[in-house]
Amino acid sequence: MKKKIAKKIAFLDRDGVINKCAPEHEYITSISDFVFNESVFSVLQRLKEDGYEFIVVTNQRGISRKKLTVETLSKIHSHMTKVLKSHGINLLGILYCPHAVNSCDCRKPKDGLLRQAVTKYDINIEHSIIISDSTHDVSMGEAFGLKQSILVNKNKPKEALTKYQQDKIRIAFIKYGGMSNGGTEKMLQIIAANLDKNKFKVDYYYCDSSTYKGSNSIHLNTDSHRLHYMEKSGVNLIKFSVEAKDLTSPFHNWIDTNFWEVFNEENYDIVQTGRSGHKEFPFNKIRNVPIVDIIALSAGSDNQYNISKVMHICKWSADIWTKSGGDKSRVSIISLPIEVENKPYNDLRITFALEDKFIYGMHQRPSNDIFSEIPLLAYKSIESKDTAFVILGGGAKYKEQAKSLGLKNIYFLPATGDSSVIFEFLSTLNVYSHGRKDGEVNSQAMAEAMYFGLPIVSHTSKVNNGHIECIGDAGKVVITVEEYANELKRLQLDKQYLATKQEVAKKRFQENYELSGQMKIIENIYKSVIKDPFPFPWRRRLYALHWTQNIRIWMKWVYLKSKYYLLGRV
Ligand SMILES: [Mg+2]
Ligand SMILES: [Zn+2]
Repeated sequence: MKKKIAKKIAFLDRDGVINKCAPEHEYITSISDFVFNESVFSVLQRLKEDGYEFIVVTNQRGISRKKLTVETLSKIHSHMTKVLKSHGINLLGILYCPHAVNSCDCRKPKDGLLRQAVTKYDINIEHSIIISDSTHDVSMGEAFGLKQSILVNKNKPKEALTKYQQDKIRIAFIKYGGMSNGGTEKMLQIIAANLDKNKFKVDYYYCDSSTYKGSNSIHLNTDSHRLHYMEKSGVNLIKFSVEAKDLTSPFHNWIDTNFWEVFNEENYDIVQTGRSGHKEFPFNKIRNVPIVDIIALSAGSDNQYNISKVMHICKWSADIWTKSGGDKSRVSIISLPIEVENKPYNDLRITFALEDKFIYGMHQRPSNDIFSEIPLLAYKSIESKDTAFVILGGGAKYKEQAKSLGLKNIYFLPATGDSSVIFEFLSTLNVYSHGRKDGEVNSQAMAEAMYFGLPIVSHTSKVNNGHIECIGDAGKVVITVEEYANELKRLQLDKQYLATKQEVAKKRFQENYELSGQMKIIENIYKSVIKDPFPFPWRRRLYALHWTQNIRIWMKWVYLKSKYYLLGRV
């Protein structure tokens, strides 16, 4: 545990790194002698981004030789500290050796200053580095077991960055049933697969679907396409087993799992989850690594102290979560990173002989519990020989409804997880006519429709209404069947209106969903977690008190005290 809190330090030689060296055999004896190496600021800012804190370690023999006083040195150092601070760099400490050659343990290349630092601060040696223009300092750093000892030429601190070996951020994705084709799972897979592997070491923990205790429903199982997608992504896949997931227990414990045999939190800098919000196994047992949540459903909130950031896929979702007790300061709004291979897709109009039709449509997973009657009811009132409606997937209720409404130009395609079929379907449509009983939080299907420049018509729901925000000006979210029908009609007849909406849809895709833009946002969130892992460090320290151990210490103390008093009185 101690190792995790310990700071990683960049030890800095002073003269020749931070400031220009004095001429040979001379000393920096006043503030006016102290001239910064301009490039040092950007070097330190870069290291700061990676979570380093700074300690200056410098030989100042000039003091023993009476060239300057301790007071003058401290003035120079206040000046140095102030200027660095104005560039956003805070020094954790300045350690110097004032002694003459061969008269102490702290004059570099002896390691006394490093040992002082370790005594004074909680330092993680193996993750710390030193930057110096002296080969002696570099040997000292190497012998001391620092991660890296970087030699730069005199007054050229910038060279440090080309030699600097960045730490890879070690991140563990953990999701029950994580290799399925579900929305949350796919999002985690896409993030894991697209993280820059030069900067991140990515492990992905998943299991096949197992039975639930307390429910008959079953989680989507591992999907071979998704597994294949992940296998070629440079992510290290780690499979664990779970006999059952216990929905009757407050934390939804996993029964008979080998998870703790394959996972050790000590090996990670970040744990990434995808979950519904409430306190949940196994994350309630992971206590020392910062956790980043993706909340895809709103089923409560969890403010465990090591939950560092809580990603929401729209603002609406964040608001609901905050209202349920979630800590607002941890919220990060992201969207969905969407992968669409940029290539021409077949238009299915020819296949269906729909060349001259204005086509509405949507795709949905084949389950009746999300069926919405609105889209086809609305379409019924505007159907003509110039229009058609195509549904890919969707529950059986859509077919029944189409039949009972007596729709003529309606087509059904079988459900599929194959993206290229979905993209062919989307490039065939003119308007994405969305309907879903429980609404959406954010929607990959809608985002993909926007990629193809489709305006989206949808309706509000009694459950989720994140789609209002996601669609924005790229379409319209209405309440009634009549309004829905009017919008379908307007998009068909008003060419200018249609063209405007198409442009907005494409633009919204680029801004809110395009893969590289979204990945940049997510990588920056991870970097900020590395920099500032725990939102409430004091709460964490409270937990870190090993209370059982403390009780033993207290009991011993009381025992010794009482013995002392008893003996004293005897
Ligand atoms: Mg030097
Ligand atoms: Zn010394």
